[in-house]
Amino acid sequence: MTVLTTARPLDVVADFPAIPEGWAYLDTAATAQKPRLVIDAITRGYGETYATVHRGVYQRSADMTLAYEAARRAVARFINGAENEVVFVRGATEAINLVAQCWAGMQLKAGDRILLSALEHHSNIVPWQMAAERVGAAIDVVPLTADHRIDLDAMAAMLRPEHKLVALGHVSNVLGSVLDAKRAAALAHEVGAKILIDGCQAVPRLPVDVADLDCDFYVFSGHKLYGPTGIGVLWAKADLLDAMPPYQGGGSMIDRVTFAKTTYAPPPTRFEAGTPHIVGALGLHAAIDYVEAIGLDRIHAHETALVARTREALAGINSVRLFGPEDSAGIVSFAIQGVHPHDIGTILDEAKVAIRAGHHCAQPLMELLGVEATARASFGVYNGPQDVDALVKGIERVTRIFG
Ligand code: PMP
Repeated sequence: MTVLTTARPLDVVADFPAIPEGWAYLDTAATAQKPRLVIDAITRGYGETYATVHRGVYQRSADMTLAYEAARRAVARFINGAENEVVFVRGATEAINLVAQCWAGMQLKAGDRILLSALEHHSNIVPWQMAAERVGAAIDVVPLTADHRIDLDAMAAMLRPEHKLVALGHVSNVLGSVLDAKRAAALAHEVGAKILIDGCQAVPRLPVDVADLDCDFYVFSGHKLYGPTGIGVLWAKADLLDAMPPYQGGGSMIDRVTFAKTTYAPPPTRFEAGTPHIVGALGLHAAIDYVEAIGLDRIHAHETALVARTREALAGINSVRLFGPEDSAGIVSFAIQGVHPHDIGTILDEAKVAIRAGHHCAQPLMELLGVEATARASFGVYNGPQDVDALVKGIERVTRIFG
């Protein structure tokens, strides 16, 4: 059997001070390690240039405001949206909750329907259930194809005018399957539904262009994109944000406050109540600079080659069951007959290979796959063929131990 190798490994592991030599970090889908550039941006943000944003009359604060808004511009450029369409939030979870509360809260009524898919992360399920319950709307679930992609033909057949919103993952955090988000958006729009794309696992792995996709909402978390935790992005079309009421009340999000009546600031400020995660935005900006310098096309090719190498090697081990499509983006889920994924994870940890074992916040998907949990290896820019080989060696040891 020929095992595919990466044409040209990225070889950037030296940029990541928290990855010691010989440690195969294969849990990037949970959270990415941070390059020095990002750590330095955070250190500088607190240690040299720190001040609040938007309110200060002194130079330091004006400079910090410029840096914070430059981060917003960087995000907008990164996904090809407009600056006033980028709302900083804590992460994808908060972004989806914001849309569920402020958009769905206004637009949904009894009898309306929301369309999700069978592979969604809990954060793209639960907020919609909460929104639907509040008004008496219903949820439908698009099935998966035999090779574990969201079945867009089935979706086309399911969509009806009652569907007001479609919410789908761009890349599955369990299977790595990549959605044809452009086609999904076109299908949603045919029945007049809006579409939210959960881009958590996509933005670190593929070039994303929200204008080309023509989606209505796009969300992601900074920490999966080599940036800090506590900062994420809601991008939404300007007219949708304009029509949405505030998410939380407080400082910054207002135009004028009197006890008789308060008026609100325009987007995106309307949705950023309170002092924001200032330094988080600077860290996210640095992370975007970092991945753009490498190039998302190169990152995608690199991870695709690592996935191919992994799948090919694991397919040769009898007791291993692989999930997801052959061309999954950077993520491989698998099970070993008769071995609990947690045991796989523990034995691999002894071999200095860090994977994730569990339901990956996708319990409905686990039910569909007929398993309690899976083991998952997920790749980042710092991984190389040697990490795949360490994983495969570790799995061979697991199969020996469990006979
Ligand atoms: N969606 C997907 C596909 C994810 O992988 C995750 C994180 N595992 C989330 C949403 C939630 O992201 P966060 O926890 O950063 O808000």
